Amino acid sequence: MKSRTKVVVIGGGIAGCSTLYHLTQEGWSDVVLLERNELTSGTTWHSAAQVTNFGMNQTMVGLKSHSINLYKELANDPEYPINYHYGDGGIRLANTEAQMDGYRHFASMAKGMDVNFEVIDANECAKRHPLISTNNLLGGLWDPSDGDIDPAQLCQALARRARNAGAKVYRNTPVTALTQRLDDTWTVHTENGDIDCDIVVNACGYRVNEVGSMMGVHHPVISMEHQYFLTEDIPEIKEAQHRMPLLRCPISDYYCRQEKNGLLLGFYEQNCKTWGMDGIDPNFVNALCPDDLDRVTDVLEGAFDRMPALMEVGIHTIVNGPITYTIDGAPLVGAIPGKRNAFCIIGLRAGLGEGGGHGWLLAQQIVHGEACYDTWCIDPRRFAGHTNVELTALKAIEDYQNEFRFHFPHEHRPAGRNAKTTPLTPIFAEQGAEFTVVNGWERVEYIKPTKDFKTTLGFKFDETFDLIASEVKNVQENVGLCEVNGFNRIEITGSDRHNFLDRIFCGNIKKQTGKVGLGYFLNHHGMLKGEATIANLPQSDRGPARVWYGSAAASEYHDMDWLRQHLSPNEDVQLKSLTNDLTILVLAGPNARKVLSACSRGDWSKDAFPWLSLRECFIGIAPATVMGVSFSGELAYEIHIPNASLYAAYLAIQEAGLEFNIKLFGARAVDSMRLEKGFLHWKIDILTEFDPFETGLNKFVNINKNEFIGKEALNFRQSKECLNKLITLEINKKNAPAQGGATLSIKNKVIGTITSGDWGHRINKNIAYAFIKSEYSSIGSEVFVDMLGEKISAKIIESCPYDPNFDIIKS
Ligand SMILES: Cc1cc2nc3c(=O)[nH]c(=O)nc-3n(C[C@H](O)[C@H](O)[C@H](O)COP(=O)(O)OP(=O)(O)OC[C@H]3O[C@@H](n4cnc5c(N)ncnc54)[C@H](O)[C@@H]3O)c2cc1C
Repeated sequence: MKSRTKVVVIGGGIAGCSTLYHLTQEGWSDVVLLERNELTSGTTWHSAAQVTNFGMNQTMVGLKSHSINLYKELANDPEYPINYHYGDGGIRLANTEAQMDGYRHFASMAKGMDVNFEVIDANECAKRHPLISTNNLLGGLWDPSDGDIDPAQLCQALARRARNAGAKVYRNTPVTALTQRLDDTWTVHTENGDIDCDIVVNACGYRVNEVGSMMGVHHPVISMEHQYFLTEDIPEIKEAQHRMPLLRCPISDYYCRQEKNGLLLGFYEQNCKTWGMDGIDPNFVNALCPDDLDRVTDVLEGAFDRMPALMEVGIHTIVNGPITYTIDGAPLVGAIPGKRNAFCIIGLRAGLGEGGGHGWLLAQQIVHGEACYDTWCIDPRRFAGHTNVELTALKAIEDYQNEFRFHFPHEHRPAGRNAKTTPLTPIFAEQGAEFTVVNGWERVEYIKPTKDFKTTLGFKFDETFDLIASEVKNVQENVGLCEVNGFNRIEITGSDRHNFLDRIFCGNIKKQTGKVGLGYFLNHHGMLKGEATIANLPQSDRGPARVWYGSAAASEYHDMDWLRQHLSPNEDVQLKSLTNDLTILVLAGPNARKVLSACSRGDWSKDAFPWLSLRECFIGIAPATVMGVSFSGELAYEIHIPNASLYAAYLAIQEAGLEFNIKLFGARAVDSMRLEKGFLHWKIDILTEFDPFETGLNKFVNINKNEFIGKEALNFRQSKECLNKLITLEINKKNAPAQGGATLSIKNKVIGTITSGDWGHRINKNIAYAFIKSEYSSIGSEVFVDMLGEKISAKIIESCPYDPNFDIIKS
């Protein structure tokens, strides 16, 4: 075995083989794969191996398209052809209008990735799949490129191509330990000797946490037992002139594809079972769990009703094997949080369909630092600090039970709630708050009018519309209080803190004590990586002069890793996370200043404390740091308070706000208001696929600065024509918001994609942001948004339609 290489990929299932192959495609041939047994001896060998194109966002659709194109190419390789049934087609069934709306939206979204799904009615479903009945069926989503592949051949083909390009594959070589050296490179210890490398990749399937623990991390991945069976031949299939399309059924929780002249039927039973939570037998190799069809009788009934032919046919094989699930259902593909030179491609629950694409995006990240798509939806850093095994298990069970039931907008499922709360959570719950979950934090979404208030899940405006309108009205005309918990906060101390930040951010950063500013940072390709507020705190009895770096709750691990990676060894800079120590209370509205003045000593007048100021003070008896910043567009103050004093601060604000009838407002009201102001959300509107000019952030770039990450690449991009532009749209539709991912077109030509949309209650308009090809971006132009199956006309308007001169914020 080699003693040194550039990358060691651990695990020889589809995840590892695809990563190895794609590393060679990106130009790295000195790469090694270590497999404890034979290739595919984990989950991959017994997979049902269906390959679909469906995804709930463009990154997932794009990576699946890559799989499909790659598999087609492999299947046609004359030197090593593999079995791939491409293009049988597939149907996702639906029996509610809301599901059909979802499919209409996903079809719109996929169009932007050059993928043509079709929404079809029940009769058309039955026409395309002659075995199904139309009972209790409204229709479905047709995916023309669905098919299935031989999983072992696929992995062998990828490994073969990787070997031909110079990679090495060592089978029967279990990894037993990992040591990270002082220079952040690794030694991988195996039963057959050690191998030094720059980078390690965990692709260990259901043994993910055995290898995770070798590097001191726990990944939020667990396994579920998952079963399918194969039937004897079915005469109707034999007689049909075509292969049966795949089926996915969210009504009765099964999937189905043709296998020879019979069917393969897989189940997602409610009475499901986790597997291997307390350790896995080391001899579980090429192995299965015991059959247990009793567990799936609930699902079987639904499948029999849909396909009566099943009742006439025998079962010849049952397969029950472990399948991995993550805490939010999507895989973890990318950098391992808190580690250098360590990546993972784990938690794949549709690894055969997705594996080609995941390996492709991971190899790009390893070699180039970023992939061609924004990969946040699969980034392992997207949750922070709360992802223990018990919570992961609860969420995995919930996901398994809902396998084909996609999340509706604003749907927050009940398992594993209250993972992160503040002292105010139960108080707000008592006041009728409905909560959304942000990186595990329970955040107030809106206030329910009655205890049993319920909304109708769907893609249209729902029963919350008027509630949110009145929360916004109170903020606009009076004063509202909102808790922003989980906001990512990093304290940066040391004499070089501003030089360091100058190097990170692409614009001028605020350095003056007592001042707050907003900044953006780029990756090495000049594309937008992140957004943060930089607040300069004075030297005081609370600490030395320091910066508080504030960013989105979800960015906690992402941003900390980025900052740490870019520290220079001789720089006097210290980074400390305060995210779990502080919470923000926001006071917003024309009476905000009066409430603040009534609960905190000092002069809070406009002259003494103008917009973008910062002051250490007390709210009642609670120590606080107040910043004059606003995400709502109204006069507002962010009050940062240690969690231990949060209740005291809350009581003081409530008392001061009594005479103004202060009211709570939630995240939904904030989202509506920020859209009216032209403010962006990280990883919704701020994506690595676009640079700051395309995103309309020119005023936050100083290209003449000495040095900043991404400067050279941005300079180059600036010399070329700006390809895309973020625009604001006024949409000519009253009953539904534009959803992120919806496609924009002109004369049936795709020209852009919606990032976010909502009703702007203060301007009384349906508005949205979208990236659009620059040539179509002029103000006043008409474009069409593909919304729920209709082409809706929309007008490009100036960004920030509410208070464009910022007079209110500065008042
Ligand atoms: C019943 C069933 C049906 C399925 N049907 C489908 C489907 O239709 N379509 C689809 O896309 N997906 C399907 N899946 C899921 C799919 O099979 C998996 O997502 C995929 O196989 C996972 O591949 P992997 O490479 O991540 O893991 P694995 O295949 O488990 O590979 C991990 C490898 O890592 C090796 N390894 C572990 N520890 C070490 C170590 N210490 N040192 C060296 N090597 C190590 C293991 O030996 C193993 O070979 C199904 C799964 C099941 C269980």
